[in-house]
Amino acid sequence: MIPTNDLLAGYLQHRTEIDEAVRRVLESGWYILGKEVEAFEREFADWLGVRTAVGVANGTDALMLALRAAGVQPGDGVLTVSHTAVATVAAIEMAQALPLLVDVDEHSYIMDPNKLAAAIRTAQKLGIRCRAIVPVHLYGNACEMESLASIAAENELVIVEDCSQSHGARYKGQMTGTFGTVSAYSLYPTKNLGALGDAGVIVTSSSEIENLLRKLRQYGWQERNNSLVPGVNSRLDELQAAILRVRLKHLDANNLQRQRIAGLYDEGLRELPVILPERRSDCEHVFHQYVIRGDRRDDLQTFCRRHGVSTMIHYPLPVHQQSAYAGRLPVVCPLDVTERLVRGILSLPISPSQSPEVTRQVIAVIRKFFEQG
Ligand SMILES: *Cc1c(COP(=O)(O)O)cnc(C)c1O
Repeated sequence: MIPTNDLLAGYLQHRTEIDEAVRRVLESGWYILGKEVEAFEREFADWLGVRTAVGVANGTDALMLALRAAGVQPGDGVLTVSHTAVATVAAIEMAQALPLLVDVDEHSYIMDPNKLAAAIRTAQKLGIRCRAIVPVHLYGNACEMESLASIAAENELVIVEDCSQSHGARYKGQMTGTFGTVSAYSLYPTKNLGALGDAGVIVTSSSEIENLLRKLRQYGWQERNNSLVPGVNSRLDELQAAILRVRLKHLDANNLQRQRIAGLYDEGLRELPVILPERRSDCEHVFHQYVIRGDRRDDLQTFCRRHGVSTMIHYPLPVHQQSAYAGRLPVVCPLDVTERLVRGILSLPISPSQSPEVTRQVIAVIRKFFEQG
């Protein structure tokens, strides 16, 4: 079976370096928030070109802490999309804010700036005080940051980017994660930069926000045993940081591999009756997922499985239709595009170690499905 994301191959690709890093930590006698975390934070910030990075336990915490550090208060409205990992919305509620869901663009599957502007007006009419926008750079595709930033400025909203799927993606040449006041990354194993366990990181250019984050992630401490703010426990451990340092060195090359695989898919699937990922000239896509869309998605997925190709759906049920959220969040925007597109989307296998032969096998199976009618 061809896996959608070959995590074992990802480990084996850099096995010697990773094993060495793990042993170094095991033999150091120091396992939480130490030299490896500090080094990873510095290297990640340098790679991105921001002032600082703060390692945390996972992506959901990263987003929750980023929102809190950006000044989001209990009851504030935070605008994001329904077509995302549920974690985006869960994190907003963990920060005691009110998630306001905006529809996505039909072609790029990311937040539609026109709908955002309308949603803000609707929220105001409902008496909700909007405080922040969380653009999600879904599938490795960068959001339209210019339009979003001007809407944010007009409405005095802070931008907190969810970069969990966009490590290295750029908008007009500028790295995602460097637009917002503060930005959050998941480093879950399947992400473009992934640990071998849970991890997350937050970046910012504000020293004030940095200081608050460093307190918040460990009980509100600046020094031991005296909490200055009500904090949480969301620490990054040394093992994961050491592994992430190895992987960060290979991130750009791995993103290039993903782009090559996407190029092969583009070419091999071009003439079929499916919609391929939109390629925008102002965006450098890093293909966290390669998502196609068509009318016969379920049949195609079954056919693929029978022919040894596993595929996934990111995500089958929009957040606003999931039991935990349905009917509970204020409606500030019709979500028709979101509801329509999830019925047709399918994520094809993609990971940096996937060979061109394997990619061609996937293409052949999909072509066969359409040839058979
Ligand atoms: C993975 C992901 C998260 C959550 O990250 P965790 O590390 O699983 O907490 C949040 N937002 C998006 C868009 C993601 O893809």
